[in-house]
Amino acid sequence: MSAADTAPVDDQTRESARLLKRVPGRARPQKEALREFEEGVAQLRQHYDPVFWPLFVPEAKNMFRWRVELECGCKHEVYTHGEDKYPDDRRFPDLISQCRLPSGEFWCTTDHGPAQKPYRDIVEWVDRKVTEFPADPVEPEYDWMDAEDWAKIRKPKPHSSAFWRVKLSCGHYEQVCTDVDWKPEDGPKLVSEERIVEIRRDFEESWAAADNPGWPEKGFERDHIRKMIDLRWPRPEPERDCFTCTQVRRITGYQRIGWLVTRTRPAPRPSTNLDREKIEARLAAAEAEVQRLRKQLDNPGNA
Ligand SMILES: [Zn+2]
Ligand SMILES: [Zn+2]
Repeated sequence: MSAADTAPVDDQTRESARLLKRVPGRARPQKEALREFEEGVAQLRQHYDPVFWPLFVPEAKNMFRWRVELECGCKHEVYTHGEDKYPDDRRFPDLISQCRLPSGEFWCTTDHGPAQKPYRDIVEWVDRKVTEFPADPVEPEYDWMDAEDWAKIRKPKPHSSAFWRVKLSCGHYEQVCTDVDWKPEDGPKLVSEERIVEIRRDFEESWAAADNPGWPEKGFERDHIRKMIDLRWPRPEPERDCFTCTQVRRITGYQRIGWLVTRTRPAPRPSTNLDREKIEARLAAAEAEVQRLRKQLDNPGNA
């Protein structure tokens, strides 16, 4: 067996610990972290039946604190289940969809300003909820719409829509609305060849007009519309813009803070009277044995 076989596995050699580094700044006081954690736990307990608490409600004594640094430069404090679980072993929550983010990502709560939502392919239609709506009012629902346009789109009867939770190619979840009778295996509905020619012409004319920047302005949105035109205007669309992508950042490093609840090492047991009695008894036995051996030496014939 070589030395490498028996060498202890330290942090640096573990694949998942590759991001351990010094994260500048200071950890919050432990009391503050613990108070905030317990407030979160109290809220969670209200969400779940007590029988599920062991499954879904973490216990402070099991939590290990870390400082993480994100690619945006922001630092946040996070927890994992124990000192051997690293922040990029964990899947942190998506604060909007309540789904889990891919590991290695974190929702940065710092306001980094407006960001364009990138379009991502829908890779999975996960599940759906059907919502019922009453008949639309006779008067236009929007101030800017005239009665004629409203009459064209108004739904005069109660109606319902399906709201799907979809998984995107980036690993995030978004919502997409479809007709109630639509199923993923149906594939998207397309418009006719004639109709797509009209749609393409309308958009191109609008965008070409010098006095009108056209909706939407150049960029992601316009590229998206061009792509949908090339695909013959599919409904539902095969891609969706992802808000989560504008909010999450990759974890680029982390540093240990320590257990959320201080762990005390088992202290050496104070000696008690009982210990003393035992030691005295052993000493007495040893002294008796010494006496016996001495006698034996003095009188070899009596062995
Ligand atoms: Zn940030
Ligand atoms: Zn995304």
